[in-house]
Amino acid sequence: MQTVETNIKDVVQQKWAKRPLIISGPCSAETEEQVLATAQRLAATGKVDLLRAGIWKPRTRPGSFEGIGAKGLPWLQQARKLTGLPTMVEVATGKQVEDALTFDVDLLWIGARTTVNPFSVQDVADALRGVDVPVLIKNPINPDLELWTGAVERVAKAGIKQIGLIHRGFSSYGNTDYRNAPMWHLAIEMKRRSPEMMIINDPSHICGRRDILLDVAQKAIDLDFDGLMIESHIDPDNAWSDAKQQVTPERLAEMLDSITWRKEDVPSESFHMALDKLREQINHVDDELMQLLGQRMKVAEQIGEYKKKNNVTILQTNRWNQILERAFSRGDKLGLSRDFVTKYLDAVHMESINRQNKIMND
Ligand code: PEP
Ligand code: MN
Repeated sequence: MQTVETNIKDVVQQKWAKRPLIISGPCSAETEEQVLATAQRLAATGKVDLLRAGIWKPRTRPGSFEGIGAKGLPWLQQARKLTGLPTMVEVATGKQVEDALTFDVDLLWIGARTTVNPFSVQDVADALRGVDVPVLIKNPINPDLELWTGAVERVAKAGIKQIGLIHRGFSSYGNTDYRNAPMWHLAIEMKRRSPEMMIINDPSHICGRRDILLDVAQKAIDLDFDGLMIESHIDPDNAWSDAKQQVTPERLAEMLDSITWRKEDVPSESFHMALDKLREQINHVDDELMQLLGQRMKVAEQIGEYKKKNNVTILQTNRWNQILERAFSRGDKLGLSRDFVTKYLDAVHMESINRQNKIMND
């Protein structure tokens, strides 16, 4: 007969390969009762694979709740025993790694405020040497893929074989709809760089509020993420940290039920044929767009020659406003958003300016 311990280690391996992988639990472990009740209610939904809880909370400002500390680890150990759910904790120092492993924590994650700091990541990595534990690495708070990649490399160099990524969005100054802007293109680029590495989406820390969790979770699934990490609490409004973004275990289950789960592919010939045809059309249109962009740049270069001869500046604000206005009104009719038209024209305009600049200064 297997012991509880080897049994849970087998479960961890099964979960690592399971898609979608669902991780949930409170932002922070607060009391023994809260941890046990959350774990039991999550387990009762039958929809959660791994139990998360913050034990040490890196807060941006001092004074808010900074985590219950190592005394919360036995509560998690108890929750694991009661429910059979493998546990997962955030670690930011080598000492925290040791403490977590002493209490049988099954998986570790490195938080966004730690991934930004190579000293801290190295300290964690050094403590991981010779240890066999899966580690998930959140993106750094700032949109820097090299830092994220660097953290993965440090952990991999320590000998950790099972490494995954968590996309939790990026901090930006000023008010946006999100607590941390998702900047999906960065997560997609990370997936492109490491296609074999699992990438989980964390709607809770992207949204910072409950009402848009489902939209972000659905988007992540549409983008072929491997799973979700969503914070849950038995009494979300009174949570000691991240109260606005947590949901009850039952609400979590409802949300998971209303997601349309998608696969990267299906083995249907007619689907593939239809897709191939449409992709052919896209290739065609892209080729034409390239041709046109090439022509546009040639005209811009001619304008550059004239400006040079007449000693006129490259940028005339009026003209640029005119281009934008024309494009907006055409875009509106074609269903192209102003945000997209602006980004597209900014890129085209910068390329024109660079070319004219080259002509002016040659
Ligand atoms: C957390 O998961 O509770 C947390 C602190 O997240 P992040 O590192 O993404 O801010
Ligand atoms: Mn949190």
